[in-house]
Amino acid sequence: MSALITLEKVSKSFGRRDGSTVTAVDAVSLDVLEGEVLAVIGYSGAGKSTLVRLLNALEKPTSGHVLVGGQDLTKLSEKQLRAARSKIGMIFQQFNLFRSRTVAGNVAYPLKVAGVGPKERDRRTAELLDFVGLLDRAHSYPEQLSGGQKQRVGIARALATNPPLLLADEATSALDPETTTEVLSLLRRVNTELGVTIVVITHEMEAVRQIADRVAVMENGRLVEVGDTYDVFSDPQTPAAQRFVRSATHDRPSADTLERLRHQHPGRLVSVRITDEPRLQQRIDEVFRSSGTTAELVYGGVSEIRERRTGSLTYELTGSPDAALEALRAAGIHAVEEA
Ligand code: ADP
Repeated sequence: MSALITLEKVSKSFGRRDGSTVTAVDAVSLDVLEGEVLAVIGYSGAGKSTLVRLLNALEKPTSGHVLVGGQDLTKLSEKQLRAARSKIGMIFQQFNLFRSRTVAGNVAYPLKVAGVGPKERDRRTAELLDFVGLLDRAHSYPEQLSGGQKQRVGIARALATNPPLLLADEATSALDPETTTEVLSLLRRVNTELGVTIVVITHEMEAVRQIADRVAVMENGRLVEVGDTYDVFSDPQTPAAQRFVRSATHDRPSADTLERLRHQHPGRLVSVRITDEPRLQQRIDEVFRSSGTTAELVYGGVSEIRERRTGSLTYELTGSPDAALEALRAAGIHAVEEA
């Protein structure tokens, strides 16, 4: 796949009132590939929002280059920048709909700005509302809609001018779990049926799990890991990504949980990585049996990322834990003793 946007060693610093500077984005190089759903994840303050503002040219990099379709955004005039921005759709956590306009009025607004005539505007608005399942609410006002419906209007409006790229900044963070799923599957359709490339900024595991093809993990302004979503979540390579994945997935016990588990379970606590390898549970059981170890399942979580199994199971081992650990590793099964 070719790159829709390329960031080349992009940094963005802000001056603080006390005279110090904060580097919100620090030498980030990243390709957003045509047709993909890329999730940018990381804790609050990691630099995700600033990265998005650099992608849509709302912020100018302190150094480095942002290339969109081979064009360097840092070299464009204000007029050219406005044209470049109009090719990028944006949706927000708080929806940012016009309260005084109807649903149809909100969706039609960017078309009006783009100079599309009334007839074509109405046609396109109806088509978009149909796509997001809200044709029957065309004449409602935003305050008459649920959060999920508001976000669907936000998506329709963002797509009005047919942008090849959609940026979603914490777009499901204000929604309940059920509505989140509904909005995420709509975003998936936007990607697969309309071919729109999507960058989602999120701290929510559910959003990543359901729609991201790739993830980019940020910490302290730096891009610490980029890869296929399944790979990054099942086997994060860097300590920063490991920390984030661990706290986002809850598959491994936290420090507090571990302390409580130790009180209840005096044996050695070992966590085994669960992958989508066939017959994995049988193989784990076999290793325990043949090494003369009794394993009691005390903690864990197994779920799916892009329809592939991933997770971790924590066992209390009694008998010959060392032999069991060695045998697990010899069998190619990733296991760690909980320190
Ligand atoms: P995230 O979206 O991951 O929470 P942000 O990009 O919002 O992270 O912020 C990254 C860092 O940059 C934070 O320390 C934040 O305080 C700082 N920052 C972001 N925007 C500005 C700004 N306009 N002025 C000063 N500091 C900013």
